[in-house]
Amino acid sequence: MKKILVPLILASLSVLPSLAAASSSSYAQLLEQISAPPPAAPAPAPKAVPGQRADGRYWVTIAAPDKRSRTRLLEEGFDIVVVSKDRRTVSGIADKALLDRLSSRAVSVLSSRPLADYSSGVSRDFPQADAVYHNYQETTDLLRQLAAKNPDIASVFSIGKTVQGRDIWCLRVNTSVKGNGPSDKPGAFFMGNIHAREHLADEVPLLFASWLMDHRNDPEIKNYISTLDIFIIPMANPDGVEYDIKDGQYQYFRKNMEKNSDGSFGVDLNRNFDSWWCREGASHYPPSDTYCGPKAFSEPESRDIRDFFLAHKNIKTHISYHSYASEILYPYGGSDEDVADPRDKAALVKIADQMAKLTGYTAEKSSALYIATGDSCDWAYATDKVLAFTVELEGDGFYPGPAVIKGTVDRNVKAAVYLLSMTANPYQ
Ligand SMILES: [Zn+2]
Repeated sequence: MKKILVPLILASLSVLPSLAAASSSSYAQLLEQISAPPPAAPAPAPKAVPGQRADGRYWVTIAAPDKRSRTRLLEEGFDIVVVSKDRRTVSGIADKALLDRLSSRAVSVLSSRPLADYSSGVSRDFPQADAVYHNYQETTDLLRQLAAKNPDIASVFSIGKTVQGRDIWCLRVNTSVKGNGPSDKPGAFFMGNIHAREHLADEVPLLFASWLMDHRNDPEIKNYISTLDIFIIPMANPDGVEYDIKDGQYQYFRKNMEKNSDGSFGVDLNRNFDSWWCREGASHYPPSDTYCGPKAFSEPESRDIRDFFLAHKNIKTHISYHSYASEILYPYGGSDEDVADPRDKAALVKIADQMAKLTGYTAEKSSALYIATGDSCDWAYATDKVLAFTVELEGDGFYPGPAVIKGTVDRNVKAAVYLLSMTANPYQ
């Protein structure tokens, strides 16, 4: 019922209140909905995809047995989606031009398969079967419902607009301050879905918000809520998300919706921050998935996130959710070096290790697999010493279906609560 309503969002919001009201904001009920079979609905008519997205691109596997070769691939504009367990090969998405370029540079391409095949063979049913995933309107509605039901501790505000004019919504949990005002309490900031096609990265912080409200009277949670300043932005790149699902067919779209100088679309927001901007592991080639933009902070979404951090200097801890690698990563990602402050390094490693234990993921320094410059967590640490973690969620692809949501959320709620427990004094 959810995905196929996406085109209707263009209609006036007042047409849709009954849809929002029909769903629940309670964590248990949300999970029940997720576990229920998808509602019967007519399949959306397949439409031609404008531009060059899913068609004309390839799922490519390349030999890249060391970090240097993986970093170089990112610079060529190849988005590494998967690093094999033995770390000898990587797979990801490339268009024909990039594939030709890679082949001409003596890169060892082991296999390439049109993404259209992959999409129609593996994912044809996903949009309807994935109706429980929250699109932009549903995410917004749920955040508003949570704040409306808990007005004494929660509020919703926009941190700014996207390229296409959507608001980036934040749920704030704070017993004394509402909206965007300053607070002296130690802050924890959870952000999801800066990469469009990583939809599980919206579900985790969104359902964590619901879980927090359901458990607000548990003694431990009550203590965090009354002493901390908790920010949750589940969908940091709503334009990209809406584009990725717009036809009831996935577009494998990662970036924002900026129109680039060459006519292509999208800047990789997680390469657009001013931390070693567009040096290693990012691309100046506008059509590429790792395109860093014309300059650091060229994009409204990355500027909104920057300004949000700068307006809330009380933020001490941060998670940016991505999918999918089952990893807990800590700074730096843009350099081989460790963070210089040994106290911070010890805290980063300790917290990452503990979150890895709680999720079953692997903890490591972000640059361990490859170097990627311009990411939000490096910038947040370098600017304000925020202890910032990239959590790569689990799954077997960008579109792992609804079955993976419950376990992923359960595990990551534990890690998020642990991060709250460390926010007032991360060096304990
Ligand atoms: Zn990502």
